[in-house]
Amino acid sequence: MAESKPNDAAGVGPVPTWRSEGDKVILVGRRCRSCGKVSFSGTRYCDVCWGESFEAVDIGSSGTLYSFSEIHVAPKAFKTPYVIGYVDMSEEVRVFAQVEGSAATLTPGATVEATVGPVRYDENGDAVESYKFRLGGPKNG
Ligand SMILES: [Zn+2]
Repeated sequence: MAESKPNDAAGVGPVPTWRSEGDKVILVGRRCRSCGKVSFSGTRYCDVCWGESFEAVDIGSSGTLYSFSEIHVAPKAFKTPYVIGYVDMSEEVRVFAQVEGSAATLTPGATVEATVGPVRYDENGDAVESYKFRLGGPKNG
């Protein structure tokens, strides 16, 4: 069975998360209560001031593809080839995630939208779903 539920209801935990509005996927980051820096991070601490208290903040449903690479050699859990990239979202947050398509179909600066889909496969061969990106979305989303 695929795991597709968002990680944390409050959206403020150490694990990056998302929520859906219709077919729109909105990534939920966190704002440090000490210094105000917004991040989309899996670490326990703020990467600026080491604060440990955060509030949830939407970082948008689409962004700009900053850079990407096509992966051809990967652990067994991943089906190659696949593309990983950095996407610039609102609140000056750069998100690292898989991007659908091949490197030949993508260009730096392209508008991409958040989606949820398989990113790897567990030991039973079942898809594990998480946030990722695909081409599309509003220009200033
Ligand atoms: Zn901070």
